[in-house]
Amino acid sequence: MMGRIAIRAAVVQTAGGPFHFETLSMDPPGPDQICVRLHACGICHTDMVMRDGALPTPFPVILGHEGAGVVDAVGSAIDHVTVGDHVLLSFHSCGACRACHDHQPGYCVEFVPRNFMGVTQAGEGGIWRGDQRIGSNIFGQSAFATHALAHRDNVVRIAPDLPLDILAPLGCGIQTGAGTVLETLNVAPGQSIAILGAGAVGLSAVMAAVIAGAGRIVVIDRHASRLNLARTLGATETGDDLASVEGLFDHIVDTTGVPALLGVAVEKLAQRGTLALVGAYPPGGCAIDPSAIMSMGRRIVGVVEGGIDPQRFIPRLIGYYRDGRLPLEKLIQRYAFDELQAAFAASESGDVVKPVVVMDHP
Ligand SMILES: [Zn+2]
Ligand SMILES: [Zn+2]
Repeated sequence: MMGRIAIRAAVVQTAGGPFHFETLSMDPPGPDQICVRLHACGICHTDMVMRDGALPTPFPVILGHEGAGVVDAVGSAIDHVTVGDHVLLSFHSCGACRACHDHQPGYCVEFVPRNFMGVTQAGEGGIWRGDQRIGSNIFGQSAFATHALAHRDNVVRIAPDLPLDILAPLGCGIQTGAGTVLETLNVAPGQSIAILGAGAVGLSAVMAAVIAGAGRIVVIDRHASRLNLARTLGATETGDDLASVEGLFDHIVDTTGVPALLGVAVEKLAQRGTLALVGAYPPGGCAIDPSAIMSMGRRIVGVVEGGIDPQRFIPRLIGYYRDGRLPLEKLIQRYAFDELQAAFAASESGDVVKPVVVMDHP
């Protein structure tokens, strides 16, 4: 029987606090777990929401949920990956509820406990500071560390020639934007789309809209540098205010999470158009006129993680990456793992779209 191993992890001690690098000990994988030696992890907006205590995340905690690495050990019931496989990590789901059976694990009935709370199941290993159990298993991974314990459902095998540091963000931010366009909205060739917010999710939606053959692709953001990047990726028009854009849209994707923008978004939908809500919305809301939705056959749909199954969708995205249609390197800036705090600051200031920290292994 394998014993615990020493790992290095970035721990947030209390809500809103900084990252402290610590050496901790990690249990061997339980029967359905997979130990992954991490090579990279993207930083996602949800990490900041969890760090700040706005979700029911346990502290002290190890965040990080866009991990990528190499399988180090597998539990006795794992048969879809083996030691040495290169893998990307995604969000966690129960595998047993109706949504999971329908290949819609983003709507798993256990989404909140398994992702934001890091709840573990009987027989699953954890991470320890002496005899104190540290909050981990966030999104079924907690990947701001040298090693993570992940699961059957959220470990996706990829070819060993692919760059782990560039593809790490596929497992959350990129699949959220691309999945919203390609699967939830199923944008058809020639259709029009407006995308609110040009962060990693919004820019992934732009790349996916180009892949889908959309006609008009309008991107709205306050940062001029991000609008430039959006045009490089295929946006046909950009601006800082949807209200001042001419015409109506078949699809609108809101990635901003700002409720005050949604009233205008509904008015900018064409007949039978759909507004996809992808942002991290605060509680409370905005006034939307029901008659404006009813009379034109408009729809509003909430979207978690793009509405995709990572086991099916990540391989599809990798196909686009290999074809040069998903130029993720334009979004990414690499940081050493030790520079995690600076990487967060660059994301929060808007300077970097998608920071990725890279772990050193001797
Ligand atoms: Zn489920
Ligand atoms: Zn995320």
